[in-house]
Amino acid sequence: MLPQVIIIGRPNVGKSTLFNRLVGKKLALVDDQPGVTRDRRFGEAHLLGLDFTVVDTAGWEDDDPASLPGRMRAQTEAALEGADVALFVIDARAGLTPLDEEIARWLREQSVPIVLLANKAEGRQGDGGLYDAFSLGFGEPIAFSAEHGQGLGDLFEALLPLIEDKQPDPADEASADEEDYDPKAVLKLAIVGRPNAGKSTLINAMLREDRLLTGPEAGITRDSIAVDWAWTDPASGEERPVRLIDTAGMRKKAQVVEKLERLSVADARRAIDFAEVVVLLLDATRGLEHQDLKIASLVLEEGRALIIAINKWDVAENASGLFNGIRAALDEGLAQVRGVPLLSVSARTGKGLDALIGAAFSIRDAWSKRVPTAALNRWFDDALSANPPPAPGGKRIKLRYITQAKTRPPSFVMFGTRLDMLPESYRRYLINGIRRELGFDAVPIRLTLRSPK
Ligand code: GDP
Ligand code: GDP
Repeated sequence: MLPQVIIIGRPNVGKSTLFNRLVGKKLALVDDQPGVTRDRRFGEAHLLGLDFTVVDTAGWEDDDPASLPGRMRAQTEAALEGADVALFVIDARAGLTPLDEEIARWLREQSVPIVLLANKAEGRQGDGGLYDAFSLGFGEPIAFSAEHGQGLGDLFEALLPLIEDKQPDPADEASADEEDYDPKAVLKLAIVGRPNAGKSTLINAMLREDRLLTGPEAGITRDSIAVDWAWTDPASGEERPVRLIDTAGMRKKAQVVEKLERLSVADARRAIDFAEVVVLLLDATRGLEHQDLKIASLVLEEGRALIIAINKWDVAENASGLFNGIRAALDEGLAQVRGVPLLSVSARTGKGLDALIGAAFSIRDAWSKRVPTAALNRWFDDALSANPPPAPGGKRIKLRYITQAKTRPPSFVMFGTRLDMLPESYRRYLINGIRRELGFDAVPIRLTLRSPK
């Protein structure tokens, strides 16, 4: 049984729009005409990892505050009985009406916790109504826009302590939660790197045909942009679809006169737009150069999964020294993500290519992974007790809970107070913990901090 959240409010404040927003499907009817909602509707809501049943009521479909119809009131009362929370919605643009005040009076007599939502608060047009809403006596209203999806984080924060106990078992949640990621879907892979690193040769070797031009002169123009092919996983014998994005091929011939260094960054930008996983190809005969770090940072900042491959391994000198040197330089130069996968390949001999593609599939899994809120907060509690946040100026920074808001890249929202005082080192401690202990490996992770205003 999921916790129940019931939506209450006078007609036309946006209850159905809110219901749709929370349920994520166009189930409820939305209409400008007051009173369209006639029945109680139930939907399963999924808000930043929090699961609950949302109930839209038709309890107050009468504009005359003096004569709230008994039948409607009875219906709402019945709905309220099973509810864990009531979301009381007002229209911030219209301001408070006598009917809002009547509903508020009635709600104050009920025992269910109330969360006040001032809807239609996008832009600044709702400011007046927002401040008025304080007078209803339910504390600070949440500035919300059901239509634009604003205020969802604040709503999450208000609901979490009220329904946290009733969240489904993490084991069940995990299976229900894999809905949007299919590990068998086509892998969108891009190869980037400085001119002459061997990108074309590598793509040819992957495709096992000589359909792309290669040559010692950099910047040869090709016409294809994406190539679809099936890679046979040598471990399982399984065929897995790959879409290889040939960014150098997207370049116009006219641009070849541009500085080559600039071109490879421009290619990387294009690759990022298309790819899930980006392979940065280095040249073993040149090592890691400043430009390579720049491209790698760009890929990570844009939230893509990154793999670094040292090419031309067949002609590498002092191979193990070279490898370790590059490993150390990467850990130093890419502070945002420690331990980015580093592989050696030879596009010429084919060495390491299957390992590279295999690594690309597995890093996509990590990049697409979702951790259920309950499991995440169990880890969070442990991480905080193992190493409590500091108390700058003698005042403790309070960290309350965390949720994974998005995947691809994994994005987390952490709630607490005095978060602006949280040192960068502590933030890194948390991010590294997420990565190490929750199986995110070396993918870029986003962590947003939110304090109640
Ligand atoms: P209900 O009667 O309370 O269920 O209200 P509806 O969901 O049917 O919405 C009533 C009207 O308000 C519709 O025209 C919606 O498009 C509009 N509306 C709902 N939410 C918002 C919002 O966040 N901003 C604005 N500007 N309009 C909204
Ligand atoms: P791109 O500019 O990054 O597309 O690089 P190309 O694929 O055109 O390769 C540049 C040069 O490096 C060519 O002369 C290739 O033959 C050579 N090359 C590419 N891969 C390898 C490799 O694995 N080993 C060796 N020894 N040479 C390679």
